[in-house]
Amino acid sequence: MPFDMSYLMLILVTLVLGFGTQAYIKHTYRKWGKVPISLGLTGAQAARRMLDANGLSHVAIERVGGELTDHFDPRTNVVALSEAVYGGTSVSASAIACHECGHAVQHARGYVPAKLRGALVPPVNLASNLWMFVLIAGIFLQMVGMIYLAVILYAAVIVFQLVTLPVEFDASRRALAYLNGHGFLPSAETGGARAVLTSAALTYVAAALVSVLQLVYLLGFTRR
Ligand SMILES: [Zn+2]
Repeated sequence: MPFDMSYLMLILVTLVLGFGTQAYIKHTYRKWGKVPISLGLTGAQAARRMLDANGLSHVAIERVGGELTDHFDPRTNVVALSEAVYGGTSVSASAIACHECGHAVQHARGYVPAKLRGALVPPVNLASNLWMFVLIAGIFLQMVGMIYLAVILYAAVIVFQLVTLPVEFDASRRALAYLNGHGFLPSAETGGARAVLTSAALTYVAAALVSVLQLVYLLGFTRR
């Protein structure tokens, strides 16, 4: 059975990393959410300027519900901003809005890791839904081949998480280059924007790390 000491440790590490990075991003996001940018623009206005500066006037900006639900949809070419980012005039709002525009720029420029990530979405969705069933069936039926298949499916999910990392770092790099390079934000505010985007990136790093640990555990389990 997979419920031994190392499994409990894995659950503990997963919880600590998961809750820790979530708490850290919320803390940083709210802290810089109280600091207004000197230009007084909303996140939506900052996003519009960055998109236009990159020749992307055809990319639309829409508002979505929820907190930290901001994303770019490459199928519709829409930058979706949460309420607080869309209308907010804080450092956090500009940072997140321009990060999402960074994804729009990646899409327009054919940035390879982003293309690869997009291509991986359908098979990885399938793999992430299947691997647990295959593993349980393999254990139940005592079929080692099925257990190995589950490990391969799970490894595909990790590849996706690893490809996500350069895509996220690059979107933040593009956002900070715009915010800083155009005299948009003074250096103290750029520092705040960097803190917000770094804490957001940490959640992706933590998720990938947890998955790798889980894979190591699965491999050990498979060998037993
Ligand atoms: Zn992103």
